[in-house]
Amino acid sequence: MSNPIVEKPKLEPQARESRLWMPERVLFTPAALAEPWGQQILSRVQALNLPIEELPRNRLTGLRGSDERETYNNSKRTLAVVTTPPSAFKLSPIPPSADWQFHIAEGCPAHCQYCYLAGSLSGPPVIRVFANLPQILDNLTKYEQAGHRTTYEVSCYTDPLAIEHLTGSLEMCIRHFGTREKGYLRWVSKFDAVDKLLDLPHNSHTRCRMSVNAAPISGRFEGGTASVSARLQALRRLALPRSKGGGSYPVGLVIAPIMPIENWRSHYHRLFDQISEALDFECDLTFELISHRFTPGSKEVLQKWYPHTQLDMDEATRSIKRNKFGGTKYVYNADTMKQLRCFFESEIAKRFSIARVLYWT
Ligand code: SF4
Repeated sequence: MSNPIVEKPKLEPQARESRLWMPERVLFTPAALAEPWGQQILSRVQALNLPIEELPRNRLTGLRGSDERETYNNSKRTLAVVTTPPSAFKLSPIPPSADWQFHIAEGCPAHCQYCYLAGSLSGPPVIRVFANLPQILDNLTKYEQAGHRTTYEVSCYTDPLAIEHLTGSLEMCIRHFGTREKGYLRWVSKFDAVDKLLDLPHNSHTRCRMSVNAAPISGRFEGGTASVSARLQALRRLALPRSKGGGSYPVGLVIAPIMPIENWRSHYHRLFDQISEALDFECDLTFELISHRFTPGSKEVLQKWYPHTQLDMDEATRSIKRNKFGGTKYVYNADTMKQLRCFFESEIAKRFSIARVLYWT
């Protein structure tokens, strides 16, 4: 008798989250260890059996290698638990993403060859997490205006989901904003470990976004991240109603950095197919569209971090954009920008009629 064909039960995609990042060293400053939130992080990393070192002073040392590449490698394998400098309590605006930015960490364990942090954060790219989180959150309430919706972006200098298993800080932020009357949180990630966030009392005051890109860009330039399909499954779970096992969050997609690679229309068309499949139900969805750009400073840092990168950073093919402080950015020329923008806006309008495009840049 031939074997009957037994259909295997379909594994829900959520059962296959990507591997979590584990640092090779975890450094604590004395000030971080004096904070209750620092102690909470200590318990987490102890439970994971990670090698822990207590620094003698509140300064990070011992990360520099013999060259930039070695410094990069040492830093990207290190988690440093520190406290913020007093300047962190003065918030900066972050248009067009949100009213204000704040930071629960600086640095990211992934290896994106176009990384936005290059040139923004100085020094070795170690992953610093902040142990004085309750004070950071308390300070935010000063920026809320009565009767006025105020939004806060927490992912400008880190990927908060990439390190959440080590800190619990994103969960704490979501809980905090769930209690605010007019304060709203926004975060974005290229990781997918969202399980622990699904049941939190967010009160729809947190918008969870995933950053995605066309396959050739993501495959070539986004080392150490979860795959785009894993990110989309994570977003699906965050957006699904609670009755279906999801988190019932408002969600968003950040398509970035958009690049006019060869056959870009068909590659991005395929990305939209994947998004449509993952979000095949009605949900509160936004899009943010960001074309690739670089500055002289970010190019210099990225070329040291990724000396063999194939990322196009040829100034000769770009237009110059200056900001009000005299800074220079290299962006695509007006005609390319127009074609890209037109394509993205029309695909979104066709496929997601109730989604909002927050901005194109
Ligand atoms: Fe940089 Fe974001 Fe990539 Fe992390 S995920 S390396 S912050 S671009």
